[in-house]
Amino acid sequence: MPSLKLGNTVIPYEERRSRRIKRISIRVTPEKVRVSAPARTSKSEIQAFIDKNRDWIIQNWTKLQETMVKPQRVYETGEKIPFVGKELTLEIMDTPQKMIRALYKKENEVLEIKIPQELQGEQRQEALREIIEKWYKQKARTVFLQKLNNWSQQMGVSYNQFRLKEQKTRWGSCSSLGNINLNWRAIMAPEPVLDYLVIHELSHLRHMDHSSEFWENVACYCPEHALHRRWLKEKGHGLVI
Ligand SMILES: [Zn+2]
Repeated sequence: MPSLKLGNTVIPYEERRSRRIKRISIRVTPEKVRVSAPARTSKSEIQAFIDKNRDWIIQNWTKLQETMVKPQRVYETGEKIPFVGKELTLEIMDTPQKMIRALYKKENEVLEIKIPQELQGEQRQEALREIIEKWYKQKARTVFLQKLNNWSQQMGVSYNQFRLKEQKTRWGSCSSLGNINLNWRAIMAPEPVLDYLVIHELSHLRHMDHSSEFWENVACYCPEHALHRRWLKEKGHGLVI
């Protein structure tokens, strides 16, 4: 792969030109910088665009290199992905259609993905990652809502609003207004861990702190909470796609 030299920074570089691309754009990923441009864009136009965005590229590239610790997974048929303590098998099928779709087949724990056959290589992997994330978020919303409703009834509390969040370091939060946020990535954890997270946030409706009274309340509904907390601490960073 060619590379782009910006000052002291050397970055793998890819250029894509296509009639289907309407305007010139730059994308910085943990692996490379990619410029996409309409088919007839000249070399000098591309160079000018890169020069104009030079600082932005360096900044983003550096940031990604520092924070990217997650290994890039390859999604293909037979690969397993975690879901509420289970492992789903991916089945990826080419379709002549333009839409990408995911279908969960509960009976054999398969996530079937139909993907436009024209998507290949890295584009294909990106599309797969996106659809899997979208599917996780949909499922997370449903599962969390069920659990919130179930546990809030059992605990005799009521929350205000629920929002699905994506946070780097937090699994959930509860505001003084009774709004509960939960991180969609938790949907990849075992079910008792999910229950613990929900019970934890709902307990904040009684105690807004992490006092001993708070933990007593958590323990009433989730006696093994310490175990689940440890699980999240040790394995939580691996719940990425
Ligand atoms: Zn808390």
